[in-house]
Amino acid sequence: MDTEKEAQELEEPPGCSPLQPPHPWEAVPLASWRDWRWQLAHRLNSVEDLGNVIHLTKEEIEGLSARGRFRVDVTPYFASLMDPDDAACPIRRQVIPTSQELVPYRYEMADSLAEDRHSPVPGLVHRYPDRVLMLVTTQCASYCRYCTRSRLVGDPAAQLGRKAYDAQIEYISRTPMIRDVLLSGGDPLTLPQNVLEDLLRRLRSIEHVEVVRIGSRVPIFLPMRITPDLTSILRKYHPLWMNVHVNHPREITPDVRQALARLADAGIPLGNQSVLLAGINDCPNVMRDLVHALVKSRVRPYYIYQCDMVHGAGHFRTPVSVGVDIVESLRGHTSGFAVPTYVIDAPHGGGKIPVMPNYVLSQSPDRVVVRNYLGFITAYTQPDAYLRHDSSNCTSCQSHILADPQESESVAALLSGRRSTIEPLEVVDAPLRPHSASPEIGALAPAGANGHLR
Ligand code: SF4
Repeated sequence: MDTEKEAQELEEPPGCSPLQPPHPWEAVPLASWRDWRWQLAHRLNSVEDLGNVIHLTKEEIEGLSARGRFRVDVTPYFASLMDPDDAACPIRRQVIPTSQELVPYRYEMADSLAEDRHSPVPGLVHRYPDRVLMLVTTQCASYCRYCTRSRLVGDPAAQLGRKAYDAQIEYISRTPMIRDVLLSGGDPLTLPQNVLEDLLRRLRSIEHVEVVRIGSRVPIFLPMRITPDLTSILRKYHPLWMNVHVNHPREITPDVRQALARLADAGIPLGNQSVLLAGINDCPNVMRDLVHALVKSRVRPYYIYQCDMVHGAGHFRTPVSVGVDIVESLRGHTSGFAVPTYVIDAPHGGGKIPVMPNYVLSQSPDRVVVRNYLGFITAYTQPDAYLRHDSSNCTSCQSHILADPQESESVAALLSGRRSTIEPLEVVDAPLRPHSASPEIGALAPAGANGHLR
C-alpha cells in the first residue's frame, strides 16, 4: 500500500464518514465522537438507548430487562457497527443480552477457571510458577456476554484500588520466580492514565519481572482511546506485550486498524485471543478472514479459546470438534504464523490445554508416519544413531529443574525419566491399591505434594 493512501485510511474516523458521526449520532460534533471520554460517558445500556440504534427482538428486550443480569454497556462506536435489522449480527450478539443468557445449563460455574482458588492476594492469580495474572480493574469499555469473569467484572463494588495494587506488587516483589506479569481485569486500558503508568513503573522496577503483558479489548470497543499520548507512555515500559480480543472480521474497522497501527508502531508485539462462539465465528471461513485481517494489522492470531463453562454463556458454546475443524481448515491453508492455537482453558483451574488435529498417524523406532493438511501421508525415517542430550551436564537443564518445582510433577518429568508414574490421588490413596511406588519414585516425589499429581 502506498504511504499516502495508508495515511489517508488511518486518518479516517471510526466506522463513519469523515464528516459526520453515523446514524443516530449525526448531531454529535465529530470531535466529541472521536473523544474516548465522550464515548465512555455515552454508552448504551437500556432498551430505550439500544432501541434507538437497532430493532430489538423480543429475546433482546427480555435479556435487557432481566433483573440481576450481567452488566450491559456498549460504546456508541461499537454500537454503530451493529446491523440494526439482523438479530444474528455477530457484533450485536457479543454485547446485547438475550433471554438465552438467563437459561442455566448443566455444569455451568461462576468461576469456571477456579481463579479465586489460585489467588494468594485479592485480584492476583498465581497458577503457573513463573507468571501471574494481575486483575487491576473490574471495568470494561463494553461488556461481552460470554465473559469468563462475569462474577466480578462490571461490578463497581468489586473495584480494585491502591490497597489491592500494593498487596499484588508486594507479592510479586517477594516471589522471585515470577518473570511475567499479565495485567488484565476488566480492561486495564480503562484505568486513568496516571494509575496505569504508576502500575507499569512499579512493575518495571522489580528486577525479576522480565515481561509485562496487557490484555485489552479497548482497541476494539473504543479504538479512539489508543491516542499518541497513551502509546508514548506504554512504549516507556518495554518489553511490553499486548493481547487484544477480536472475534469476527467485522470488528476490524479503519479505526481499529489505526489503533493497532499505533500500538505496533510503539514497538508493542500484538497477539489476538478469540473466543469460539456459536453463531458468531464457528465457521472456518469467518476464522480465515479474521486471521488474515489480523496479520494485515500486525497482530498475530494467538489463541482461539473454547468458550468457558461460565454462567450465562451456554448458548455460545460449541462442540470441541468445531474448534478442531477450524484449525484443520487453517493449518497448511494459510501462513503458519496466522494459525492460532486452539485451547480449552480447563475447568477447575487446570490451565490452557491445546487441542488440535492429529498429524502423527503412527510411529515405530525407525519411522514416524505423518499426514499433511491435504491428506498426503508419508514416513519420516528416524536417525540410526542419536547421541541423546545429557541433561546432567547441561547448566540450563539443571537451573530449570531447580526454578520450576512443578516440572518434577509433570508429564515432562516422565519423559525425562525423573518420574515413572503420575497417579490420581484417589488411586494412590485407595486401600486396595494394587501396587506401591518404587523407592526411587518415592524419593523423587516432592514433599507435601497434594492434589491430583503425585
Ligand atoms: S472485555 Fe474481557 S473482561 Fe471485559 S467483558 Fe469482555 S471478556 Fe470480560
